[in-house]
Amino acid sequence: MPTDDRVAREGDPEKEVSGMRENDVRPVRTEARCGFPWCTTLHGETAHPDDEAHRSAGVGFTARVRSVDETGAGAEADVEVGILRRLDDDEDWLVVEVAGEGLAFGRDGVRQLRRILVENPQIREAFLC
Ligand SMILES: [Zn+2]
Repeated sequence: MPTDDRVAREGDPEKEVSGMRENDVRPVRTEARCGFPWCTTLHGETAHPDDEAHRSAGVGFTARVRSVDETGAGAEADVEVGILRRLDDDEDWLVVEVAGEGLAFGRDGVRQLRRILVENPQIREAFLC
């Protein structure tokens, strides 16, 4: 087939090119990505070694936030929460990101934060009632 004809037919859901299907060029991964069921990283297909870290899908929401030294009403911002485990970590980290900045909590920190939010009477009354 001439090279000029090696184009995907428009609207062809199979994206056939010269008798080949898209999957013939780039096979679909069928093996498990890694041992962490929450991990969405396409290991072996990332551009940078740091991208090989195990990452969950983020859970996002919009919240009014401000830094601790700011005053005023704060601003609406996208907040994302997810799990991160770098290749040299021996535990999972809970990442809370706002506008590209954030904190990562180790397992003990997450437990303490949860306990304080749920059990501390002042915080519970102020924010959860
Ligand atoms: Zn992984």
